Amino acid sequence: IPPSHSLQPSETLTLPDKLAHQVRDVLRLAIGEALILLDNSGDEIICSVMKSSRAGVEVTIQERRAGQRESAVQIILCQGLLKSARFELILEKGTELGVTAFVPTLCRRSMAGLEDAGPSKLQRWQRILQEATEQCGRSRVPTLSPIRPLMHTLNDIPSDALALMPWEEEHGVNLRTTLQEQSPKPQTIVLFIGPEGGLMAEEVALAKRHGVQSVSLGPRILRAETAAIAAIANVMYELEA
Ligand code: SAM
Repeated sequence: IPPSHSLQPSETLTLPDKLAHQVRDVLRLAIGEALILLDNSGDEIICSVMKSSRAGVEVTIQERRAGQRESAVQIILCQGLLKSARFELILEKGTELGVTAFVPTLCRRSMAGLEDAGPSKLQRWQRILQEATEQCGRSRVPTLSPIRPLMHTLNDIPSDALALMPWEEEHGVNLRTTLQEQSPKPQTIVLFIGPEGGLMAEEVALAKRHGVQSVSLGPRILRAETAAIAAIANVMYELEA
């Protein structure tokens, strides 16, 4: 539902048509059954169905409480643009694993380009984020920024963040050890993952000049989407309380 800080216990709400359809025809909730509404405020709004008919669905708010499933660790994923299906997999799995912000990043070897990401594609991506958020019970939909060139994303690294660039040519330092060595533990991580064709050595060098550390994810060359999912899972495993 749209952001609605005003919704408080005992208030009644008529659900928007799309949501009413989901509650009545897809989930088939009966009168009195409970559901959780999310308004992207970080809260969960517990309510129960009061009326349900072709005319609409009405619910009464029982409780408003802080969402329980957001992580204190913020992950900003700057993902080199990929062919759509692979990129969409990262949006879905990254959301489940707790990514806070997705930044589709234009790299030198990105085969997918700006022309692949018109307004309808961005809308579709936004829908994937929302559905994944609902599915895994998060209380905030991750943000999706417009497509940005790598250089811009490097300029925007927050000053308190640990910025990491998994790179298959990095044989010295691995992601896990790098995370374990941090003291205090960083709360914001920026991850840069390359596109299908990988990152060029000049891009990695440029990133290093912006304070980014290159790290290995192991001896095998992973598909870009595998690398993204493995890196996010590692960060959460090492840093999430
Ligand atoms: N050609 C394959 C594809 O179509 O997906 C492999 C692409 S791989 C070069 C894409 C990105 O995954 C790289 O730019 C890097 O960020 C990351 N990556 C893959 N394997 C890695 C490894 N062993 N260590 C660190 N990063 C890795």
